[in-house]
Amino acid sequence: MKRILINRELCQGCRNCQLACMAEHTEAKSVLMLDLEDPANQARNFVEADLDGRPVPLLCRHCDDPACATACMSGALRKNPDTGLVEHDRVKCAGCWMCVMSCPYGLIRPDQLAGRTAVKCDFCVTRPMPRCVEACPTGAITLIELESKGRLTKAGLPGQSLAREVEM
Ligand code: SF4
Ligand code: SF4
Repeated sequence: MKRILINRELCQGCRNCQLACMAEHTEAKSVLMLDLEDPANQARNFVEADLDGRPVPLLCRHCDDPACATACMSGALRKNPDTGLVEHDRVKCAGCWMCVMSCPYGLIRPDQLAGRTAVKCDFCVTRPMPRCVEACPTGAITLIELESKGRLTKAGLPGQSLAREVEM
């Protein structure tokens, strides 16, 4: 199972990961052509400052017991048993925002263009690697492989420490 590992000590707060996420969800998929004022361009990941002003990358954890899916009454959110990813079906989404209120990390949000469906990380499933991972210049977010719940088999970068953020 693939997961994203966060090492916040390496984050420089450049927001390349956010821009990459926004670009990946546009037709052109280009950061250079990204219109930051267009509400249709919406990131699924965020970089916020902690109480000391240090940047913290925030990405969906594809939780083992996802509160967003438990709260969803329309069946739009489900944990895929094969990939372990928490998937969102926009067609089934009723836009009730129960998931938005339930996610403890604030990582599923209303669609800021139409405000009708929720928007969350889709792990860039059509790509070999999530675009945010590819875009991070410091290795603060990397792709890892887990053999089973919580067990790391292969880190994305040599010497990378297991951050507390790994929660599977
Ligand atoms: S949106 Fe929130 S609750 Fe749902 S899987 Fe992601 S981190 Fe977990
Ligand atoms: S791209 Fe990497 S270094 Fe830049 S804000 Fe995102 S996680 Fe931090």
